[in-house]
Amino acid sequence: MWFFSEEHQMLQKTVRQFSQDELAPRIEKLDHEEGFNLEAFRKMGDLGLLGITVSEEDGGAGLDAVAATIVMEEMGAVDASTTLSYLAHSILCVNQIGVNGTAEQKKRLLPRLISGEAIGGMGMSEPDFGSDALGMKTKAVRQGDHYVLNGTKTWITNGPVGDVFYCYARTGEGRKEISTFIVERGMKGFSTGKKFSKMGMRASPTGELVFSDCKVASSNRVGEENSSLKMMMKNLDLERITISGISLGVARAAIEVASRYAQERKAFGKPIGAFQQIQERIAEASSWYEACRSLTYQAAKMWDLGLMTGKEASMMAGKAKLQSGQMATQVALDAIQILGGYGYTREFPVERYMRDAKLMEIGAGTNEILRIVIARQILGNEVVDA
Ligand SMILES: Cc1cc2nc3c(=O)[nH]c(=O)nc-3n(C[C@H](O)[C@H](O)[C@H](O)COP(=O)(O)OP(=O)(O)OC[C@H]3O[C@@H](n4cnc5c(N)ncnc54)[C@H](O)[C@@H]3O)c2cc1C
Repeated sequence: MWFFSEEHQMLQKTVRQFSQDELAPRIEKLDHEEGFNLEAFRKMGDLGLLGITVSEEDGGAGLDAVAATIVMEEMGAVDASTTLSYLAHSILCVNQIGVNGTAEQKKRLLPRLISGEAIGGMGMSEPDFGSDALGMKTKAVRQGDHYVLNGTKTWITNGPVGDVFYCYARTGEGRKEISTFIVERGMKGFSTGKKFSKMGMRASPTGELVFSDCKVASSNRVGEENSSLKMMMKNLDLERITISGISLGVARAAIEVASRYAQERKAFGKPIGAFQQIQERIAEASSWYEACRSLTYQAAKMWDLGLMTGKEASMMAGKAKLQSGQMATQVALDAIQILGGYGYTREFPVERYMRDAKLMEIGAGTNEILRIVIARQILGNEVVDA
């Protein structure tokens, strides 16, 4: 991308090498067994990737959304699962503590999270409330110097392996009366429930967080009571921009595998790349990938420069994620088609790319919800919510 700084380019090179060395050798087995690459996480800590957007003053790398998206794209091209876990840790948990936490919370929690000693996650979704997140039922009731939490969060990335969770709970009756609590493994009344078995993103453990009269000290509340809505929505925008990087990575890898195959595989005495229908798939895939790449990094750059109002940022983030997610799924499907029978087997990674890419149309806001976010900004709330 033309506006990548020297620092961005260095980062890209470093993460590309890291992905080849630490992620590539293990992903097939981890995908098969639904494992987790803890060693890679620790090494990401050594590289300074885990607190990528946290200020240097607070022990982070002090980098921007463009940098975070570069990391997602480079790691996502090799192992989308570990990258999803990285996103939940670095953007949904660590970044949020860095942006919204008190000095004491940052001092207490960030060193372990940034070094990789502790794994982070974020709890918003619930069994009955996914897209309708503000309907959440998990309640926090104040009792003296602490809160008592009851409820269940579900589909939480890193739930089964995490140590520190940035969790939202209702502290009033109104839909917007939401507060944030940091819940740590080992706290009384907190457990990580069942782990889900998934079609894709299989090396990114997903599970439940269960609060059963869980006592959380007031010092673990982030921000004022009932004031978390804005912080939650703002982070969703950053999540949607940076997660688009994973879609870009998956698509890039799929195009590379399919193109190589089209040059080498012969049918009717010619490379299959000589057939116009194969050329069309590759040309369309490559063009859509480039369009999404421009849109995603443009959104990240505008975010970094503060060039968008809150609603514009939500629309841009939504557009980037909506297009990149659909593009990645379609490009992975096209790669399978180009590889024919081999594409359908585990001999090649394209079937994994397709399984992983599909999550990009569901997590962090489904395609349907993103279309509503975009339409609201274009048509106005009065029309869209009429
Ligand atoms: C692998 C994975 C990892 C995840 N990680 C996390 C995490 O770390 N933290 C976290 O909090 N959550 C996480 N999630 C949850 C994720 O954000 C939700 O799955 C997502 O928001 C959708 O919610 P839902 O699954 O309840 O679907 P629902 O909201 O039940 O939607 C079902 C269908 O109805 C559609 N729909 C809903 N409302 C509307 C509407 N108004 N108009 C049109 N269509 C509509 C949806 O688009 C979808 O197609 C994760 C999910 C997965 C699968």
